[in-house]
Amino acid sequence: MDTILQVLSTLPRYIRLITIFDIVDIAITAFLVYKLIQLVRKSRTAQVAKAIVLLVVALLASSIFHLNVINFMLGRAMELGLLALVIVFQPEIRRFLEQVGSGSIGEMLFGKPSSSSSAVEEAITQTVAAYTALSKDKVGALMVFERKTPLDEFIKTGTALNSTVNAELLKNLFWNKAPLHDGAVIVREGRIIGAGCVLPLSGNVNLSRDLGMRHRAGIGMSESSDAVVALVSEETGSISVAVDGMLKRHLAPETLERLLRAELIPEPTEPMVTKLSFLDRFKRKEWSEHE
Ligand code: ATP
Ligand code: MG
Repeated sequence: MDTILQVLSTLPRYIRLITIFDIVDIAITAFLVYKLIQLVRKSRTAQVAKAIVLLVVALLASSIFHLNVINFMLGRAMELGLLALVIVFQPEIRRFLEQVGSGSIGEMLFGKPSSSSSAVEEAITQTVAAYTALSKDKVGALMVFERKTPLDEFIKTGTALNSTVNAELLKNLFWNKAPLHDGAVIVREGRIIGAGCVLPLSGNVNLSRDLGMRHRAGIGMSESSDAVVALVSEETGSISVAVDGMLKRHLAPETLERLLRAELIPEPTEPMVTKLSFLDRFKRKEWSEHE
């Protein structure tokens, strides 16, 4: 109790020492940490970040409880780990340096300026038209709509394109004898920028058994990024959408359009509405992992 009182009595003295520079310092640090957490949470580096936190906690615990051998070994592992980190995070470091070099650091810190929503709206209309036909004809399709997480590493696995989203073109791309039908089409800011791209498979072991590779790849993409993924099943013609690792199945074309609009076109006045509305729907269990 005495110690607490002592601390409380010295508190005003310390508060008086805080200057405006300290507040700015703390605010900038907090902002950078927030951006870092956002980056790590949404990218494939999340597992590595968890391992690092675990390692640091274990190192501290072993030091507190005087577990000297474990502490020594973990200390060495951390030293080696620093080198390993540079190797593991090499794509992210390179992307960061490229952004600094190209002067788009502001964009990286404050997010991309929202793309022309008319291009996105047209892309959604064309996608829905194509998916209605593909679903009727039972032609498999897999489309990824990029949001904030850059998907360049997945575009590199396929063929780079640069085209407006057009229903006839999509039907051509997914036609099962076309050279680019295998894999995913990736859309950035209302333009097709890649086709035949390989996506990461979902690590979720609880997925319904009737979901094959296409659906697992779609869900996997939505787990490791903030992208919105739209699918057509070749077996059943059923349309699905995956967001944040959740798959909404058996959608009517009108529902597909409503979902794509809600997720891809931000409200002009309140930018957080899209995310909140998604969370609200999630809370109401409208979304499920494998209905
Ligand atoms: P469907 O209902 O259409 O049969 P499915 O979920 O049962 O879908 P599969 O039958 O295994 O999936 O579909 C295989 C197709 O999925 C492949 O031909 C390929 O186009 C696509 N695919 C599989 N794995 C990936 C991946 N990692 N990235 C992108 N596309 C993939
Ligand atoms: Mg199948």
